[in-house]
Amino acid sequence: MRYSFALGDQPSPWLLGMREGLDAVMRRNGHELQEGSPVGADLVFHAVAAERPRPFRRQAKATFVVGLAEGPRPSADPLGQLYPILVRSLSNLLIYGGREPSGERWAYMVTPELGRYAIHAPSETLWFDEVYRRLAPLATSHLVIDNQFDEDLEPELWQGTRVTDQMREAARVLDSWNLFPAPYPIAEILGPDDYRHLRHVFGIGGLSYGNLSARHDRHRFWMSASGVDKGKIGTVSRDILLVKGYDPSIRAMRISVAPGSHPLRVSVDAVEHWGIYEAHPEIGAMIHIHAWVDGIPSTSVNYPCGTVEMGQAMTELLNQDPHPERTIIGLKNHGITATGPDFPDILARLEGRVRPTVPMS
Ligand SMILES: [Zn+2]
Repeated sequence: MRYSFALGDQPSPWLLGMREGLDAVMRRNGHELQEGSPVGADLVFHAVAAERPRPFRRQAKATFVVGLAEGPRPSADPLGQLYPILVRSLSNLLIYGGREPSGERWAYMVTPELGRYAIHAPSETLWFDEVYRRLAPLATSHLVIDNQFDEDLEPELWQGTRVTDQMREAARVLDSWNLFPAPYPIAEILGPDDYRHLRHVFGIGGLSYGNLSARHDRHRFWMSASGVDKGKIGTVSRDILLVKGYDPSIRAMRISVAPGSHPLRVSVDAVEHWGIYEAHPEIGAMIHIHAWVDGIPSTSVNYPCGTVEMGQAMTELLNQDPHPERTIIGLKNHGITATGPDFPDILARLEGRVRPTVPMS
């Protein structure tokens, strides 16, 4: 991985210390510093002013941007204070931190999936090792957010099926549980240009934190669109989309739509769901929400939504489950995905067991 720093003209002592520590740990792990312009690097550490965050303008979608912001220690749950900094700076990951008067470093990491967790280590070197251990799997994962729309949906599917009717109803039920919050009005936080850039980079238009999908046949499944009010989904080839596969040659999801339709992008999690439906033919439907159920197994790395690696981690967890076709798995620092034969079955098992707060570690 080629990494680079974009720290501005007069980096603060904290930023210089971060640069030194990050540079050393990146080298220790075999990565190469790109001197000079950060354009084209795989990973860019970008200085962000916490009071006035400005985005790093990626030239390529594949660039993973880590925002570095300094400030006073936030309150008990830092999300409300730190999430807007992540969004405004269009970072894939935010490191917000400082030093105690004793000199000891502290920092929180914040992710687009609403993850936030503190970095702890007994020494300076180990502290940067811990930052690296948390950061590297995220920065090297492979996002699949492009959609290729083919106007080849069979006429008998243009109005949907019993399954899309059930998806519409399940979304309404979940909406009534208040599990699809939109905690930050992203379109309002960002100006139009930055909002377009965010959509381009993350494939999201207003984080709606959840999705529904259901198998159509052996290799195809229906899935809700990205960035829509899940309580109001309902139109096939617009906000309910038939995914027919993943095309690695163009790194895009292939989607069948009716001729002349105006589809929204499918949920960024389509690549994970595709992998799971392929590996587990007995799974009929899945619901993903940013909430938690006690006592469930969980992935150990919080890969970003919409990456091949997240899909692999979920599939591995399901492979270990005695009943992958009817279970609930946790996504670390993120939420849950429940599988089942159909939506009514999943909803019946979730009802009364879901709690809105995802544990963070
Ligand atoms: Zn999610």
